[in-house]
Amino acid sequence: MSLVVVGSVAYDGVETPHGRVERMLGGAATYISLAASFFTRPRLVGIVGEDFADEDTQLLLKHGVDLEGLERVPGKTFFWAGKYSEDMNDRETLQTDLNVFADFDPKIPSSYRAARYLLLGNIQPALQRSVRAQMNGLRLAGGDTMNYWIKDFREELLETIAQWDFLLINDGEARMLSGESNLRKAAGAILEMGPHTLVIKRGEHGAMLFRRDSFFIVPGYLLEDVFDPTGAGDCFAGGFIGYLAEQGFDLEAGHISRGDLSRAVIYGSVMGSFCCERFGVERFRTLTRSEIDARFEEFRKFTSF
Ligand code: AMP
Repeated sequence: MSLVVVGSVAYDGVETPHGRVERMLGGAATYISLAASFFTRPRLVGIVGEDFADEDTQLLLKHGVDLEGLERVPGKTFFWAGKYSEDMNDRETLQTDLNVFADFDPKIPSSYRAARYLLLGNIQPALQRSVRAQMNGLRLAGGDTMNYWIKDFREELLETIAQWDFLLINDGEARMLSGESNLRKAAGAILEMGPHTLVIKRGEHGAMLFRRDSFFIVPGYLLEDVFDPTGAGDCFAGGFIGYLAEQGFDLEAGHISRGDLSRAVIYGSVMGSFCCERFGVERFRTLTRSEIDARFEEFRKFTSF
């Protein structure tokens, strides 16, 4: 079942206590697509400049990511640089050069429009809404956002997420969006805004899934070494939607059980954890589906009692 992924394709400069990389492939849509590619065939909608390297195009193609929706225009690719704290739970943005991303106006190729699944990465809410409107036949649509849009584009964001099936955000953003400091209350308030499924990501502490009548909580996978958390939230999203697309689930029609959604949260957590094992997208060069499934089983073991 095909999945359309929309968002940034970037070059990142990242510094963590384990080292520093000046420039490497990144961007939310890149991480989401690579993670989802282990489950389904992602179709990427994004924009890059003339400096986008052939080897990076090849990496995406090798993972079966369809690039018909990746626009190439004169100018430079979006560049982002960040530095992580000693425990890697905080990061500081050092540089954001929007470059060609500043004029991103996502155009969905006609071959993508009938896709059943849509994952909207963190971009301006009005653009997310325009993408949603260009699709026909969606079974499941949702995405991510960030504090900047919650604070300064609140009305636009509320109109956008009112049409989503699911929202994936971190705990701080859930508190900001709802105005509630208690996460359970925050989740209840957000589920009144439109999405019938909410995933709150909590970094190394795991994730929580909320629906009106139930919730599911999973701890984070305890890695011995976290090299670089960049993209972990996006990889979570890619694993979550990738698994649901692979299974052909249809939340609206009710063809989905609590167990199915819980497994999607576990696959999301598994993909986020693999992402942190190496810098940037490196881990995806060698990762296999059997390693993913083995870690999924590990989750089952360490959460059963
Ligand atoms: P995450 O660690 O999951 O929050 O994702 C980090 C990725 O998001 C990096 O690869 C960045 O290139 C990308 N990114 C950083 N800032 C922005 C932004 N303002 N808009 C879109 N993507 C961004």
